[in-house]
Amino acid sequence: MRKKEFFEHMNDLHVAMTFDDVRLKTSYSEIMPDHVSTETKFSKNVPLKIPIVSAAMDTVTEHELAIELAKLGGIGIIHRNLNPEEQAFQVARVKNHLNGLIENPICVNEEESINDILEKRNRKGYGFHTFPVLDKEGKLIGILTENDFDLCDNFSLPAKEVMTAQLITSPLGTTLEEAYNIMTKTKKKVLPLVNNDEKISGMYVFSDVKRIKSESSQKYNIDARGQLRVGAAIGTGEDTLNRVKKLVKENIDVVVIDTAHGDSKPVIETLKMIKEKYPSLDVVTGNVSEPDSVRRLIEAGSDGVKIGQGPGSICTTRVIAGVGCPQVTAIYNCSLVADEYGIPICADGGLRFSGDITIAIGAGAHCIMLGSMLAGIEESPGEIVFWEGRQWKNYRGMGSIGAMQEHKGSRERYGQKDAGKEELIPEGVEGLVPYKGKLKDVIFQYVGGLKNGMGYVGASTINELREKADFMRLSVPGQAESHPHHVKITKESPNYSGA
Ligand code: IMP
Repeated sequence: MRKKEFFEHMNDLHVAMTFDDVRLKTSYSEIMPDHVSTETKFSKNVPLKIPIVSAAMDTVTEHELAIELAKLGGIGIIHRNLNPEEQAFQVARVKNHLNGLIENPICVNEEESINDILEKRNRKGYGFHTFPVLDKEGKLIGILTENDFDLCDNFSLPAKEVMTAQLITSPLGTTLEEAYNIMTKTKKKVLPLVNNDEKISGMYVFSDVKRIKSESSQKYNIDARGQLRVGAAIGTGEDTLNRVKKLVKENIDVVVIDTAHGDSKPVIETLKMIKEKYPSLDVVTGNVSEPDSVRRLIEAGSDGVKIGQGPGSICTTRVIAGVGCPQVTAIYNCSLVADEYGIPICADGGLRFSGDITIAIGAGAHCIMLGSMLAGIEESPGEIVFWEGRQWKNYRGMGSIGAMQEHKGSRERYGQKDAGKEELIPEGVEGLVPYKGKLKDVIFQYVGGLKNGMGYVGASTINELREKADFMRLSVPGQAESHPHHVKITKESPNYSGA
């Protein structure tokens, strides 16, 4: 309620605020930071264990970062300055990383000899010993397991005479959890999935299922098949459906229509087109910063909306085009509409410290998207650069001159897809960010800061933080007081590198 009064008052004055303008009030708390839950959602059907999404930028998110971030409970959005095949390949690398459901198991024919199978295994470098055996019609009739190979004393026998024929199978669509239950109950270490024609359509192997289940129960963000979750950015151009088709084939969890102005005809038409063709695929749209825009996108079928026009560290939209609402006000105003529909919003851009995550969520975001705070980590694309005795990584806006000259996707994001190289109006810059080491250490600090903030506010869940947060406006001296002052910092802190 107090938050509502605060923002309504500022809205009445036509004053919009960003992160440095505000702080959250502390409150009586029985919540210990270690005991809070950071679970939330990126979109209607895409949950997160931590509220962190990596930006769809070519200096931030490719498969390496997306894999590590999903293992820590978040989600990465693969950028779209890649052709559809390359982008789908990046997605496939994330989806296949854990080996949950093996979608196309390597099968052998019932007449192949054990000798031939072992020779093929060596030649192709397969590290496993589990081969489904198919008859002449391609139907599943048995499985060769490690035991069958170990106990076989005549390698010239055909597979059908050595295989284990008593099979437990399960229908297509069986989840990792269900597979685990079936396998522990039946004491079978392999569970083939079959379709209506008795043809194999996937396979679970117990060692993988068990490993994923135990690791994932801690923190992995995995789908029902036991694969890491990942998203991909798409545009509004003619090749969009072709791109989406390739992404869907790799089991993409969510696509993000990634534009600088989400409240626009091409975005709404693309959204409707994708939802019509793939009704069960989550589509997030953006970016917008006004509540009416959120309503239009949700009414058109959006499963999540990204908020942020101009707050990004590399962004020049506010000064080049003169538009955009400061981020904390944008988040609050947009959250009111999103909450009417129960659709999550993601605060995208402008965050510099872990405290900004607490503020963004307190203002109404369900999760946040990070660019500069993740561009300097080991797993982001690009090499470490040495400059002035320090280590850095390149970070550039998707609307920077370099990105726009090189990639149609970048030109399209800024509504300039048909512009020649000399006619571009960039809305971003290119630069360097300090190298920060491994993602897991960086995320530990970011989530740790958020959890501490939740403790101060007395919020045990992300929703409680959204509800309980109460804001105050900072004066300029108040801002200065918020940072270290009147001290010469002599030791670098893992979560603070100056204002
Ligand atoms: P950061 O976390 O403050 O660095 O902001 C990252 C966000 O800035 C991205 O997720 C995009 O929404 C946005 N962005 C990326 N490239 C550009 C650009 O060139 N101009 C404006 N905004 C950009």
